[in-house]
Amino acid sequence: MKMATRLAQAGTRQDPGTGSLSTPVYFATTFAHPELGQSTGYDYSRTGNPTRTALEQVLAQLEGGERGFAFASGMAAVSTVMSMFSQGDHILASDDLYGGTYRLFETILVRQGITVDYVDTGSAAALQNAVRKETKAIFVETPTNPTMKITDLHQVVAFAKAHRLLTIIDNTFMTPFYQRPLELGADIVVHSATKYLGGHNDVLAGVVVSQGGELSDRLFALQNAIGATLGPQDCWLLLRGLKTLALRMRQHEENARVLSARLAEHPLVPRVFYPGLPSHPGREVQERQATGFGGMLSFELADKAMVAPFLRAVDLITFAESLGSVETLVTFPSRQTHADIPAAVRAARGVTDQLLRLSVGIEDVDDIWADLQRALEQAGRPENFARQ
Ligand SMILES: *Cc1c(COP(=O)(O)O)cnc(C)c1O
Repeated sequence: MKMATRLAQAGTRQDPGTGSLSTPVYFATTFAHPELGQSTGYDYSRTGNPTRTALEQVLAQLEGGERGFAFASGMAAVSTVMSMFSQGDHILASDDLYGGTYRLFETILVRQGITVDYVDTGSAAALQNAVRKETKAIFVETPTNPTMKITDLHQVVAFAKAHRLLTIIDNTFMTPFYQRPLELGADIVVHSATKYLGGHNDVLAGVVVSQGGELSDRLFALQNAIGATLGPQDCWLLLRGLKTLALRMRQHEENARVLSARLAEHPLVPRVFYPGLPSHPGREVQERQATGFGGMLSFELADKAMVAPFLRAVDLITFAESLGSVETLVTFPSRQTHADIPAAVRAARGVTDQLLRLSVGIEDVDDIWADLQRALEQAGRPENFARQ
């Protein structure tokens, strides 16, 4: 069946006991044993919970993987995956990674003796130069946050297989609706499900989906040992969000296409980063490995003095962190999501003090555009520059 059908019917479909169409939420932390040595399949909720199982099965199916795992946040998911590695191991990672992932690698993994090199994972030469005999994995975000750089997944997977590395892809921006890295040969997909998968700014969650039995068994053991699992109520919220993922992603993308084209023509916007723009350097690769361009875009204002008045002027659009929900949000990456990255590193990666990131919502696109136009006009007034 097609993805939209599977999404609409996500969950248990019909509870065998009652016929309930909504997946039951099992708050139980413990489950009775029928006899000594017997189990219903559930013993203790950290190890397994029926509501979480329903969600995890859907996630595995959507990504085309062997097994899905739900976590208390995206960072809990990434941390659990990275706990597979040991002292002395080396990781290659995309060079404009989500700020929280960068912080985890630089403040926690380093103390465990695991080193990470940040490279342009879109460049075969850069990967070749950085790989060492201790390298165990490549961690990739594509598109990257916030400059929307595209990594060629076919190329990364081929490189990883040649060097016996695990390929880990953060698929938060694309979601399985547009991109399924496991089907291209990657080993592990991670998500901040707080974003598009949940979709409504009301559940903090993370996801891991793995390929292969042995790897899946290891991740299951780590999920149970570390215990950063998603609670049953939040599993239900995530299942509920997933039902409309197809509809939402189509609308996010349609709006983002229109807005990126209009912003690109605005005199106060020198640069727009959106993989769907014909001028985007990664567009061709994106078309080869994904079925869409998503709903995230970034743009530069003509002057950094415009940023504060712009953020003050938006009205329909909310100035807030996060992304992927039905409401349009604007973020100032250099001060928010990427504040933990040293200024020089930020600048080298194009995260300038005049770059704004837009998580395009599913509102009527003309209303979003009217708000953007009005905020740009107000931010561009001469008195705003004088006030700084
Ligand atoms: C938000 C985000 C994360 C972290 O997820 P949380 O749910 O906030 O813990 C990781 N990767 C990407 C790409 C993100 O956008």
